[in-house]
Amino acid sequence: MKKLGFGLMRLPLSDAGNPQSIDLPQVCRMTDCFLEKGFTYFDTAYPYHQGASEVAARKALVERHPRASFTLADKMPTWLITDSGDYQKYFDEQLARCGVDYFDYYLLHALDKKNYADTLKHGGFAFMQQLKAEGKAKRVGFSFHDKAEVLEQILAEHPEMEFVQLQVNYVDWESKSVEARRCYETATKHHKPVIVMEPVKGGLLAALPPEAERLFKAARRDASSASWALRYAASLDNAAVVLSGMSNFDQLADNVSHMQDFAPLDGAERKVVEAAAELLNAGSAIPCTACQYCVDGCPQNIPIPKYFTLYNDRKRFRLAPNHANSYRNLAQSHGKAGDCIECGQCEVACPQHLKITELLKEVSAVFDAPAQKK
Ligand code: SF4
Ligand code: SF4
Repeated sequence: MKKLGFGLMRLPLSDAGNPQSIDLPQVCRMTDCFLEKGFTYFDTAYPYHQGASEVAARKALVERHPRASFTLADKMPTWLITDSGDYQKYFDEQLARCGVDYFDYYLLHALDKKNYADTLKHGGFAFMQQLKAEGKAKRVGFSFHDKAEVLEQILAEHPEMEFVQLQVNYVDWESKSVEARRCYETATKHHKPVIVMEPVKGGLLAALPPEAERLFKAARRDASSASWALRYAASLDNAAVVLSGMSNFDQLADNVSHMQDFAPLDGAERKVVEAAAELLNAGSAIPCTACQYCVDGCPQNIPIPKYFTLYNDRKRFRLAPNHANSYRNLAQSHGKAGDCIECGQCEVACPQHLKITELLKEVSAVFDAPAQKK
């Protein structure tokens, strides 16, 4: 299997304000080109495009191409499960939305410490084994968003899981909050192939600050910033597939051109990427490790590490509107940065001794102020 996978979570839209308005003719063209060039892996999930991604997979892929010509991955929305009977209900709905009678890869979506505990409680792992026995999921695994020690626990307790989907990219490789390297090494130690998600960090590594872009252009004038990020992830020996959430035909053409005759990064190229990572990470404003110790006691329910991550990314990368949207989405169900009452509980809990109350004022100045002006 070729290493590039088509992530169906940021598809082109006909109405930018409506995530369900997928531009199906363009997705059909992208799908056809992807298959023509010899790529086969497609990745969707229940919540992508508010349910419309799975339907687009049916219309652009399943209804237009022989079932054996592609590999389709889908994911169980673990956070929506409240009862063991829900697994079958969601799975049947996904089969119908996608128009298939089996998935090639099927994942428990977004396991972290909490979702893992809930999945254990509701019998999610037994359900995955049932799907495998019935032939409705050819391979079973999970996508993961937490620290390496939690991954170690899951893989030790569930060796029947066949693969893991991890967030791996060159800026997060040594990150203390994402622990990409440690998670990758944990999966490798357990002999689980890794499906890489977010190799371009949600598009951030495709739009670099000029000083980082200059490094890449000096090394290879013809290569896009996104292609460096994809090749970095794909160069990992245990990366089975690298997913790219492609948003238009041009992005797909660029990704495909760099991944068709894929060559791993050589030593000199690896040094260029490492220099870019160092430069980008030097711009990190808040050294939060996302350990979450500060979160539980906050009377204002402020998602402190998530806001710090958005703030750091806003400082480092050029795609400011995405960060404002992410902040607004989070603030709908949590306290805003400006809601902090300076009770100080979080600062006592923080092992990095961060002046959280002061830092939240900076976050508020960046994200709350523009929102209030509207
Ligand atoms: S100081 Fe602010 S952010 Fe920290 S726990 Fe209190 S209200 Fe929450
Ligand atoms: S306790 Fe400190 S380092 Fe940990 S998530 Fe909170 S702010 Fe970040």
